[in-house]
Amino acid sequence: MRLSQMYMKTLREVPNEAEIPSHVLLLRTGMIRKLASGVYGFLPLGWRSLRKIEEIIRQEMDRAGAQEILMSAIQPAELWEESGRWNAYGPELWRIKDRNGRDFCLGPTHEEIFTDIVRDSISSYRQLPLMLYQIQHKYRDEARPRFGLMRSREFIMKDCYSFDKDQEGLDVSYQKMYDAYTRIFTRCGLKFRPVEADSGAIGGKGSHEFTALSEVGESEIAYCENCDMAATVEKAECVDAAPSPESVELLPMEKVHTPGTKTIEEVAGFLGLEKSQTIKALLFARYDDELRPDGYVAAFVRGDRELNETKLVNALGLNEFQLEFADEEKMGPATGAVGGFTGPGGLHDCTIVVDSELPGLKNLCAGACEADHHLINVNYGRDYKADVVADIKVLAEGDPCPCCGAPIRHTRGIEVGQVFKLQTKYSVPMGAIYKDEKQKDHPIVMGCYGIGVSRTLAAVVEQHHDDKGIIWPVSVAPYHVIITLVKPNDEVQAKVAEEIYEKLTAAGVEVLLDDRNERPGVKFNDADLLGMPIRITVGKLAGEGIVEYKLRREADKEELSAEEAVERAVELVRKENI
Ligand code: ATP
Ligand code: MG
Repeated sequence: MRLSQMYMKTLREVPNEAEIPSHVLLLRTGMIRKLASGVYGFLPLGWRSLRKIEEIIRQEMDRAGAQEILMSAIQPAELWEESGRWNAYGPELWRIKDRNGRDFCLGPTHEEIFTDIVRDSISSYRQLPLMLYQIQHKYRDEARPRFGLMRSREFIMKDCYSFDKDQEGLDVSYQKMYDAYTRIFTRCGLKFRPVEADSGAIGGKGSHEFTALSEVGESEIAYCENCDMAATVEKAECVDAAPSPESVELLPMEKVHTPGTKTIEEVAGFLGLEKSQTIKALLFARYDDELRPDGYVAAFVRGDRELNETKLVNALGLNEFQLEFADEEKMGPATGAVGGFTGPGGLHDCTIVVDSELPGLKNLCAGACEADHHLINVNYGRDYKADVVADIKVLAEGDPCPCCGAPIRHTRGIEVGQVFKLQTKYSVPMGAIYKDEKQKDHPIVMGCYGIGVSRTLAAVVEQHHDDKGIIWPVSVAPYHVIITLVKPNDEVQAKVAEEIYEKLTAAGVEVLLDDRNERPGVKFNDADLLGMPIRITVGKLAGEGIVEYKLRREADKEELSAEEAVERAVELVRKENI
């Protein structure tokens, strides 16, 4: 491709809203174009890279035995009503009506559709196992679309579904997908980590997220350097503090005056206690799945812990959108809560959730549900009770690893893919049934496996750039080589550049020839910005058959004969185009 003819517009200025490098660079290189908040189009260079990622995914899906199909993005509401998700999916579901008022949605994911086609076509154990996938636009009306392709409202996803006779079959399918994902993200040049994950609104047990390591990632990961434990912070189980020894006596509860001590720091400081001797309250308003107010929830954790909201909604059997931090003024009269002084003892008309370690801890300090007062020597059972006791705390840095006890560390990442064991979550309500050898009916056991294709593109840029621009891995670069022709109207230079272009193209190398009438400085800057892995500069020494060969990822350049430069480029592309 000749740059002089390519449809491309690089930008000097970047819109203020682009906060992270991949968003800035994808816009600056003109790879993507914003149409509306969280809605992007792909221009030639961006589309080429995206298609390469898709191709890697296709090859690995096919190799794992999955078959590609393409379902419609528009989905009838009835299927979502059957699975129970029409309401449960919440406001992210992009609902639309046709001209007759019939409800549809733009698919955020396709469990219902795949379950529907399979229940229509599969009836016997002989037809299982089966794996089907598609690559398609998905729609989620995200509350906060941001970071360009990372969290958009329209995005490209590969979604795959497995259908098995039983749990063992599902385990085999899941492992095949897990291995395929490992190969896919390796081939895309990502540094990533599979981590245990919460299975969120989709449900079921057993899930991993594939996370590309990055400071700007929205996922927080807890991991152990001593063993294999790695999980999203939402999912990571905690080790409860050891219960107070039997020998510790339950002291009489006492109300104390603690003026103005609204935070845990303040009250612990005022009373001379450790934060771990106090109880922290977090208050929520609850909504039903049609977003109507549905009472209040008070959650309690030890004063030095953080609440894990995902664990809290799971403990209550709710969806994430059904809990919201409560307005204390509203909640106070209804439940007895008092801002900064709420304890588990004095509440009414409110669901009380207590973290699993609190019942074992004696003589704690909690709010008295009275302004400027706390209670000391508060004990579970005697002074307060819970509707639910569950692990609802965050596994923090330095806490003991739930597997081996070594101190936990945290890091950040971008969730590029997720694999789930759905079990029979969809096949039971939707009646996807097969008959075994003895003609007995069983629900099909399912798994689902997603990759954010457009998010993966952004993650690659996030991990592969410097202050001048992108540094593409060969496997997903829009082109492998850029030839910078310094003076396009110098006949000798133009001829050498054309020859290199022809030879590389004939060898299957993808080449961009910068034949624009621009100053050399502009061309070099653009080559660095666009980030093709290899740059061959044809300039002053062209008459002697000498060109400059440089890898984008390295600082050094070399003077080589044109033939040698071609050979080197072909060799590198063969080796790294995995
Ligand atoms: P997140 O937690 O980031 O909202 P999710 O867990 O809801 O994502 P899945 O339902 O697992 O997402 O979707 C499969 C994949 O699709 C994700 O692993 C992610 O890579 C991608 N994805 C999800 N939401 C978006 C989005 N809004 N924009 C771009 N990619 C997305
Ligand atoms: Mg996910």
